[in-house]
Amino acid sequence: MTHVLTALAWPYANGPRHIGHVAGFGVPADVFARYMRMRGHDVLMVSGTDEHGTPILVQADSEGLTAAEAAAKYNRIIVEDLDALGLSYDLFTRTTTGNHYKTVQELFSTLYGNGYILQKKTLGAISPSTGRTLPDRYIEGTCPHCGFDSARGDQCDNCGRQLDPTDLIDPKSRINGETPKFVEEDHFFLDLPAFADALNVWLDTRTGWRTNVLRFTKNLLDEMHPRPISRDLDWGVPIPLEGWIDRPDKRLYVWFDAVIGYLSATIEWARRSGDPEAWKRWWQDPEAVSYYFMGKDNIVFHSEIWPAMLLGANGEGAGGGEPGPLGKLNLPTEVVSSEFLTMEGKQFSSSRRVVIYVRDFLERYSPDALRYYICSAGPENQDSDFTWAEFLRRNNDELVAGWGNLVNRSIAMAAKNFGAVPEPGELEEVDRELLGATRAAFDTVGDLIGQNKVRAGIGEAMKAVAAANKYLADTAPWKMKEDPKRQGTVLYTVLQAVSDLKTIMSPFLPHSSQRVHELLGGEGVFAPMPRIEEVDELDAGEGATDGPYPILTGDYSDVPKWESVPLAPGTVLEKPVPVFTKLEPSIVDEEIERLNS
Ligand SMILES: [Zn+2]
Repeated sequence: MTHVLTALAWPYANGPRHIGHVAGFGVPADVFARYMRMRGHDVLMVSGTDEHGTPILVQADSEGLTAAEAAAKYNRIIVEDLDALGLSYDLFTRTTTGNHYKTVQELFSTLYGNGYILQKKTLGAISPSTGRTLPDRYIEGTCPHCGFDSARGDQCDNCGRQLDPTDLIDPKSRINGETPKFVEEDHFFLDLPAFADALNVWLDTRTGWRTNVLRFTKNLLDEMHPRPISRDLDWGVPIPLEGWIDRPDKRLYVWFDAVIGYLSATIEWARRSGDPEAWKRWWQDPEAVSYYFMGKDNIVFHSEIWPAMLLGANGEGAGGGEPGPLGKLNLPTEVVSSEFLTMEGKQFSSSRRVVIYVRDFLERYSPDALRYYICSAGPENQDSDFTWAEFLRRNNDELVAGWGNLVNRSIAMAAKNFGAVPEPGELEEVDRELLGATRAAFDTVGDLIGQNKVRAGIGEAMKAVAAANKYLADTAPWKMKEDPKRQGTVLYTVLQAVSDLKTIMSPFLPHSSQRVHELLGGEGVFAPMPRIEEVDELDAGEGATDGPYPILTGDYSDVPKWESVPLAPGTVLEKPVPVFTKLEPSIVDEEIERLNS
């Protein structure tokens, strides 16, 4: 048994999330975590909403809310959506907790103490008319990279690049249109060049990474510069240094605090579990492994910056040093990055309304219909395009006509003719072949999930489904009324295959696997689901949220093993209700119209 940290990118809490987000990392990471638990590993799946930084403030302004109110609003929506999709987080929390603030400041202090945080003079913007600091988000100008004319002082919403206010062409104050004055100010920088050698050595030990991630990261290491980690901002984690901690206009940069969330969420989980030291099993045990899941726009933070921060906190950069109070921390085992999901040929964009929100999707379709699409056609190794026509085809022709039909036909026939799982007679060659094929699928599918090849994994599972459907067509048990013994053997064989396949399908399609388990007469929880819990803040004081907040958590300790379990003849079977719903072709036009309206 290994301790497996499954770390998912933190959704940004400035609006509801669309299906592109959950396609990139949410569902693939959940497939991995569910499988690893079934293999007997001690999995901890953590994340939360990323709630600091400019876009939250901009969204809050536009809704007449405070930043804290806006973050709380979207945190709750995102928690509910991820729950509905069945993502089995051990803890999904948020970055506006006292525990997170404390962990971030502790890591900052360790990095600072080890000499990896530089204080440098940079140009900061002030308003000429008031003489006050002008926060980054209130400066607007043309992006030097893509020419977008409404880029903000810290980020371009068009090309996604991080910016400094001085990068903007023709900067203007969004408050009164005046041109800001730039004056020298102190800011903090992470000394990335001090980690170039250590990162290179570490990267050379990585195996099994997707080539795009490895190539991208190696290119990054060729050109490293100190990276700013503080901003002119009034919303974020205060800088824990004398002369800085009380300044309301200086905060740590949102990305700096967000990546520390993986660690702080594990600590929060341990504290809530009643064993506050338990987090160390995933972060300090040298045998523990950690898998980070994200979209490709976030690779840099997970393959370069976060490992650099961990090296620095361990005292393992060029400047040496000592581990801080959190001890020596594990670097990522693997950074699993996905590509982008486009929609009907366009980039997802909330502002241009090219978007399908998770919530809207799940109001009309089942979570497993979405999970099936993502698993079989998601942006695993290349950008992929979501189209409603393809969703309809995969749902009707593959999920309903393939897996759903196998479940329905085999259980219905056995229920009608025997009222139970029949007692098998002697197996013939063709029966043994089918059972051998489904048993072999445990190895092939499992190996693929273990390598985060979800598309190939579900493809192999569907091949085993096709083999079972072919077996039914070839043996035609409905024609065996005169030979109930052989009919019972054939139906027993196919039911055993269905039982094995519900196990193999459960990391991908947990909701329907639970249903198949029940249709086969099984009791209790087969594919455990997360639950939303309202919890109280653990720490009063700075960063503490007001009142209870929702987390996602769950008890996944009792998962079935990743293996074939013999069905018990005589188990009572009822006429099944179909597990999946066939969709009308008219949904394609309806959905496209909805998108364009
Ligand atoms: Zn740009």
